[in-house]
Amino acid sequence: MPGLYIVATPIGNLGDITPRAAATLAHADVIAAEDTRVTAKLLAHLGLRISMTPYHDHSDERARAALVARMEREVVVLVSDAGTPLISDPGYKLVRDARAAGRHVTTLPGPCAAIAAITLSGLPSDRFLFAGFLPNKAKARADTIAEFAELRASLVFYESGPRLSAALAALAEGLGDRQAAVAREISKLYEQCVTGTLTELAARYADAPPRGEIVIVVGPPGEAATEAADDATLDAALRNAMADRPVAQAAKAVAKRFGLDRHAVYARALALKGGD
Ligand code: SAM
Repeated sequence: MPGLYIVATPIGNLGDITPRAAATLAHADVIAAEDTRVTAKLLAHLGLRISMTPYHDHSDERARAALVARMEREVVVLVSDAGTPLISDPGYKLVRDARAAGRHVTTLPGPCAAIAAITLSGLPSDRFLFAGFLPNKAKARADTIAEFAELRASLVFYESGPRLSAALAALAEGLGDRQAAVAREISKLYEQCVTGTLTELAARYADAPPRGEIVIVVGPPGEAATEAADDATLDAALRNAMADRPVAQAAKAVAKRFGLDRHAVYARALALKGGD
């Protein structure tokens, strides 16, 4: 059937291509690929020679319109370099325009580093937010992290080796020292998943940025804070924090640090303030 076929491809191990994905690639009239050189390797592995065209969401409108036109009579397959198209990869505008034009749109599920990492991490998987790549600049990164601080969900970020330690430190600063996992080279020879608190992991990778592709998973607030929050520790932290900032801000920071409920900590802060 003509239309748009969104096809997930392996994130490392070529054996992870699904039989349906391979069959769909074999029947494609054209493959819209993020990087045709990368996809050429997959096609060679499958013994296929199929026509390809480069596709990016910032490809010009005419290239996209041409693909949408072809979908009326032809099988157009969308792939990215690795994993599921549209997940921190191009494709959203092509799907949007194909739908608007009334084309048949279907997806062939398969590998995705975010999902693979959450399954490896041992962190709560009932609720998670996929946050893609953090911004490069420190201020923008901190602002983005702050948006997630109150979410009662695990958080999943894509990262690269050189930025890893700084990203982990910024996450510890913005979210508190939560439990986390660094999943690396998933499905490849040197697959590894290292767990610990954010500050432990930041320290581990500070002097030795790891090679390869990386996903960070951070546990939800309150689930796994490792700093002991007995009453005396909590009171001392609150007094300390209130010395240089308003009560509400101090309570928020301390709640974050210990992974505690913000309202309960605020109430304790008010009580301490009143008693001083
Ligand atoms: N669309 C892809 C997917 O479904 O996962 C993600 C594409 S995004 C441009 C590439 C990022 O995904 C990498 O920088 C890394 O953070 C993560 N990634 C991809 N393959 C990975 C792997 N084998 N192990 C760990 N992370 C991986």
